[in-house]
Amino acid sequence: MTRTTRFAPSPTGPLHLGHAYAAMVAADMAAGGQFLLRIEDIDQGRSRAQWETQIYEDLAWLGLQWETPVWRQSDHMDLYAQALDDLWDQGLLYPCTCNRRDIQEAASAPQEDGGAQYGPDGLIYPGTCRHAPRPGARPTDTALRLDLNKALDVDSIRFTETGAGPDGQTGEITVPRDTLIRNVGDVVLARRDMGTSYHLSVVVDDAAQGITHVTRGADLFEATQIHVVLQRLLGLETPIYHHHRLIRDTQGKRLAKRDDARAIAKYRADGKTPADIRRMVGLS
Ligand code: GLU
Repeated sequence: MTRTTRFAPSPTGPLHLGHAYAAMVAADMAAGGQFLLRIEDIDQGRSRAQWETQIYEDLAWLGLQWETPVWRQSDHMDLYAQALDDLWDQGLLYPCTCNRRDIQEAASAPQEDGGAQYGPDGLIYPGTCRHAPRPGARPTDTALRLDLNKALDVDSIRFTETGAGPDGQTGEITVPRDTLIRNVGDVVLARRDMGTSYHLSVVVDDAAQGITHVTRGADLFEATQIHVVLQRLLGLETPIYHHHRLIRDTQGKRLAKRDDARAIAKYRADGKTPADIRRMVGLS
């Protein structure tokens, strides 16, 4: 099978060593197949053209080559809307008007033992809006959540992991239905301010770009179960997943966008070479 991999940065700040590592893992893993680039800019409030330009410059400097045209999420809002229409027509989405505080309060109400719980997508939704009457047409001015209990018509979901999750999870991963419902809950698939979400867009894009091997940081391992559910509901193939370690600073903290000291641009300006960067992230 010819491999197709991708690197999917958000243009919300400078690329740092962790991004360089992620990009190089994806390019290496394509192993002569296709390496694609995707600009994840659904968050238009935080995305900037200037950062997108710098992503291209940094990646080219690192010696990476990718196919053009580059897939930019903001150019494909129609595809995300179609996927939402499909899920809406299947009766699997419902509008949600709760804010964070509502969720926190409902989740920690006395009858809900255990208080507010966190899943891969933040607070696990206690279901407040789930049973409100559903409008006939899909609303585009509120958040839409996936009714997970309704959506899961199988006992478990499965995917293949060739890297490892944060607790070393690897190989054939099986997530039972009950675990998903308890640990993930009804995630938001369309944010009110965006008309889509990370989870929905990434699943639609990986399929549209023909990605066979999804490589990304271990911090996104827990999100994968949501992606596999969505692939099932939308009739899309599940790629192979490869979650890699995160690059950390000397205190063991993962690098963040504001970590300018470790920005690729800074190393470039300091006269480092791409080979230096490979060594610094432990790739030879
Ligand atoms: N855009 C995401 C990030 O910058 C990556 C998404 C993915 O690889 O699935 O962390």
